[in-house]
This record gives sequence, structure tokens and C-alpha cells, in this order.
Amino acid sequence: VKISKSYKLASRDFHPDDTIIDIKGVKIGGENLVIMGGPCAVENPEQIDEIARLVKAAGGQVLRGGAFKPRTGPYSFQGVGVEGLKMMAEAGEKHGLLTITEVMTPEYVDICAEYADILQVGTRNMQNFDLLRKLGTIKTPVLLKRGFSSTYDEFLNAAEYILAGGNPNVMLCERGIRTFETYTRNTLDLTAVPVLQSLSHLPVISDPSHGTGRRELVEPMCKASVAAGANGLIVEMHTDPDNSATGDGVQSLFPDQFANLLKDLEKLAPLV
Ligand code: PEP
Ligand code: MN
Repeated sequence: VKISKSYKLASRDFHPDDTIIDIKGVKIGGENLVIMGGPCAVENPEQIDEIARLVKAAGGQVLRGGAFKPRTGPYSFQGVGVEGLKMMAEAGEKHGLLTITEVMTPEYVDICAEYADILQVGTRNMQNFDLLRKLGTIKTPVLLKRGFSSTYDEFLNAAEYILAGGNPNVMLCERGIRTFETYTRNTLDLTAVPVLQSLSHLPVISDPSHGTGRRELVEPMCKASVAAGANGLIVEMHTDPDNSATGDGVQSLFPDQFANLLKDLEKLAPLV
């Protein structure tokens, strides 16, 4: 049965080969496994520098960190803003890592793209169509997170907005969806990995940190993601997750856990 889809450029029918996004020699997609690690939020220069050092030493390729944070409540820490972009760019440069950071509004796309190698669209903004349209006008790679209540079709249509605008460099990120289960923060839908890879040619990245919300579940779900065929992982790690982290400490790995995870992953798939 031929299912008619509303998205086209994102579809495997349109583009049979895997999309491989090459960022300064780091290839994302195909057989490669890319590891993005770092804090939920950039806090200060020392914090992001030290975490960058640890991500690099463990074998990661991309430093993650939010300078603009989409917090559920208005009184929670909202991020350090443009200063954070600069801190991250400096740490990435110094330690030889690519950087990824979240952009929340169309107005900030250009400045975020000036400082970061990959722009992240958060789950709460997956259907912020003005933002998606703006991201279509540049060539900076975009990691598009699945809306926590979005279907695969809605997810791929969101990617289509960016592709249709003229930016072919999109990766899809499964970060957990909302279900009846409350033990975990979200339910990491690993079925999304093979489904999205069959429907689409775009790289699929898994985020077990937000997908589970619990540190002890991050390692097994990272391994499960790789076993399911994920093209990469994005993992929160902090040097002091239980005390000083400004957000998502309970789901952030300690540096030694992060390093051990990457050692184990090397056995499952070669890191790019
Ligand atoms: C994050 O990566 O820190 C984040 C806010 O992710 P999400 O949009 O998936 O909640
Ligand atoms: Mn987070």
C-alpha cells in the first residue's frame, strides 16, 4: 500500500541515500556514531571549559549547552544568554569540539549561528513554524527535537519546513514523549529510531537524558539507542550535577559515568 505523505524532502522516497552532514570533518549520519555531551545549561566560563575538556577526553565530538533555556516556569533559571554563546564557542574551540546550542526565537537564529556549529530546536518549539522557517534560510545544521506530544508525521513535517526553506542539514532527535507513565520524566520512544530511519534519510539522534529524566537510566538507554541504530546520542553531563547544576542535575551524568559510557559504546559502534 502506498501511503501518501504530506512531507516530501524529508522522505526516504525522495532521497534514498542516508543524509550525511559533514561539520568540519565530523560526519553525522550513515554508519557514524556521534556523541554530543555537556551540561543542560552553560553557567560560567570555568564550568563550560572544564566540561568541554572532559567531553573531549572521553572521546565525544560535540559540546552541548544551552545559553537560552526554555523553562516550564518563568521563575526558573532562563540561561545566561549571548554571553553563554561566547563562553561555549571559546570552550569548543579550545578543546577541539563542535558546539550545539538551543535557539528559541527567529530573532536569535543569526547570533546563535554565529557562535555555534549546530542549532538545537527544543521539544517545546518543534512546531514554532516561524522559527523553523527562519532556520530554513541558513545552512547551519539543525538538530530538531521531537515535540513531546508529536507523531512521527508531525515531526517529519516540522523537518520539512526547514528543508523546504533551503537548509538540507537537519537531524532528528527523539527525546521522549509524554505518556501515562510518571516514573520517568518522559517515555523514550526508541521505536522512533528505526521508524524515522525508514521513513526518512535524515540522521536520528537519541537523547536518553531528557527521555528518562533519571541518571541511572541514561547509560542503558544510550546503549539501547545504539542497538536500535541511532546515528548519535546527546547526553547531559556536569561536574557537580547534584549541587551546582542550574538545571536537569538529576538526569546529568557524572564525568566518570560519561567516560565509562563512551568506552562501552566503542565496543558497540566506532565513534566518528
Ligand atoms: C535540553 O536539551 O536541555 C532541552 C531543554 O531539551 P528538550 O527541548 O528536549 O526538553
Ligand atoms: Mn536539559
